[in-house]
Amino acid sequence: MEVLEDKWKKLRLLEEEVSDIIIEDNVSEELRYKEQRSLVGRMVSSRTISREALEATMAKIWRINKAAKFMKVSMNIFVLVFENQEDKLRVWAGRPWLFDNNMLALREFEAHIPLHRISFDHESFWIRMHNLPLSCMTKERGVQIGSTVGKVEEVDVQDDGYGWGSYLRVRVYMNLTQPLARDRTLEVKGESVWVPFSYEKMPRICFSCGCIVHWTNGCCSVLEDSENKEVQYGAWLRATQFQRVKNSSNFFRREEGG
Ligand SMILES: [Zn+2]
Repeated sequence: MEVLEDKWKKLRLLEEEVSDIIIEDNVSEELRYKEQRSLVGRMVSSRTISREALEATMAKIWRINKAAKFMKVSMNIFVLVFENQEDKLRVWAGRPWLFDNNMLALREFEAHIPLHRISFDHESFWIRMHNLPLSCMTKERGVQIGSTVGKVEEVDVQDDGYGWGSYLRVRVYMNLTQPLARDRTLEVKGESVWVPFSYEKMPRICFSCGCIVHWTNGCCSVLEDSENKEVQYGAWLRATQFQRVKNSSNFFRREEGG
């Protein structure tokens, strides 16, 4: 689509071709309601994903009142229409979602934006930060460390402000075209503390460059030129052991000590 737009810019156009047609913002109530209960999704995969398989699988995974309808708009891009807003918000809050370990990146549906302009370069993930000293298992430290990865949306702490467990959970809105952050090193009262990360519901990633998404640019890995041939990314970044907690906005929480 971008290519077509570029080609158009080079043409000498007639007056009626360049004059804007003003579109009033007076969509029907029905359409507005549909917009409010829809999302746009893109499957991160180089092969074509079947709409039917995706719709049927997500219906099982989401456990919402009524299965969402998937409408294909182009290769691996779908408009998802939910029965009601409640179902949509439930799915939205539970991101990220995987189909066959590939990511289904979701965006709010905005009816006035052409679909090819919607960017699917970001998604929210729960990162587990391991090995933190107790003094750092707090909301403030979670925000501080998480902000070096992306935009922090939530830190899973209890009412006293502390995360009691073997890791701190931080929800971060991350850029998928950047290598996954594997760790951070803190300096706590002069002591160096290594904090490895793991990711809940981590999709397939490129083990060469650590990115979830390549799109058209291909792999940015410099592994081949590097002295160090060790594989830099792997399944060890995937957190395991989920427990579903009812009435929780988080959908998934850690198993104690897990
Ligand atoms: Zn890569």
